Amino acid sequence: MHVMVNPIEDRTFRSLTYMTGLEVEVFIPNVQKLIDDEQPLEERYNSDFNWKRYHNLEEIYAWLDKILIDYANVTEGLVIGQSYEGRDIRAVKISHNTGKPAIFIESTIHAREWITVATATWFINELLTSDNSQVRELAENYDWYVVPVLNVDGFVYTHTNNRLWRKTRQPNANSDCIGTDGNRNFDAHWMENGGASDEPCEDRYAGSAPFSEPETEALSEFVASIKDDLRIYLAFHSYSQFLLYPYGHSEEEIPQNKEDLEAIGDVFTSAIRNLAYGTEYTHGTTANLLYIASGSSIDWAYSELDIQLAFLIEFRDTGRYGQVLPPAYIIPNAEEILAGLIALVDKAKDLNYI
Ligand SMILES: [Zn+2]
Repeated sequence: MHVMVNPIEDRTFRSLTYMTGLEVEVFIPNVQKLIDDEQPLEERYNSDFNWKRYHNLEEIYAWLDKILIDYANVTEGLVIGQSYEGRDIRAVKISHNTGKPAIFIESTIHAREWITVATATWFINELLTSDNSQVRELAENYDWYVVPVLNVDGFVYTHTNNRLWRKTRQPNANSDCIGTDGNRNFDAHWMENGGASDEPCEDRYAGSAPFSEPETEALSEFVASIKDDLRIYLAFHSYSQFLLYPYGHSEEEIPQNKEDLEAIGDVFTSAIRNLAYGTEYTHGTTANLLYIASGSSIDWAYSELDIQLAFLIEFRDTGRYGQVLPPAYIIPNAEEILAGLIALVDKAKDLNYI
C-alpha cells in the first residue's frame, strides 16, 4: 500500500506504524519537490514542445494544431465532444490510405496520470516522423485514432489546483464533492461487485449513472461510430507496469479469447524487458492482477462493442515516484511502450485479429 502523509502528521504516522509493527519504507520524502521539478522554472517559459518536461492542455493543443498543418496529408483533427466545462475533447486521426484496420488510443481519462499524455503525444510524433521500418509499418498499415487528453477539465485542474486530481470536474447532486471516475463510468457491469464507489467523495466514484459524464459519453459515441474498422482498443494509464485485459468486474468470468490475450501479453512484456532499460511489465486480467474494477472502458469496448483486443496499459513506475514520474523518464517510458505495441500489433496479426 502506498500512502501520502501530511508532514504535520508524519511523527504520529511513524509512531503508529512502529507501535503496530508495520514495516514502512519512505519512497518519496517530499512530494511537492517532485511536483515542482516536473516543470522546472527555466523550462516553463520555453515555448518549445518537447518530451523533457510535462505540458499543459494549451501547449498540447497548440502542438496538435501544428502537426495538423505540418502533416496535413496524413492527419485529420477531430473534436469528439465537449467536456462538462465546455472544453473541446480532441482526437487525431493518422491515416495513409482509407479503409485500413483501425487502432484507437484513449489517454488521460485520469487527470493526474501525466505520463499518459506525454507518451501519447510522443507516439503520435513517432508515427509521423520516425524512419524506423517497424514504426513506418505501424504508421502506414493502420488508421490510428488518438485522444491524447480525454479528461480535459480534470487535466487542467491538475495544472492549476491539485496535481493529484483523478476524476472529472462535474459537480454531484446532494454532495459538495466534485467529479466522477471516468474509468468506472462506462456501461459495462457498471457498479457491480464493489468494483467502484457510490460515494461522490471517493476517487473511484462511478457517477450517478453509466455515461453520466459528458467526456465518457462523447468517447463511447465516437468509438461506437468507428467500431466496424476497429481492431484494437488501448487505454493509457499509470502506474504499476501492467498490461491488463478484461474483465474487471469479476475474477471468475474469463474472456473467451483469454489464450490469445495471454499470448499477446507475453510478447508485449518480453519486448519491453528486452530493451536496455529491462523494465518488467506483468500481464493479466484487471480483476486478477489489479483489483475488481467495474465499468471500465476496455470492458465496455470488449463486451459491448465486441472489440476482441482491448487493453489497459499501466505505465511506469511501480511506486517509487508514482503519479509524479520525473520528466527524465518520459522518453524511456515512451520507447518501451512503442516496442511493446509493435510486438502487440504483430502478434494480433499473427493470430488473425487484423
Ligand atoms: Zn488511471
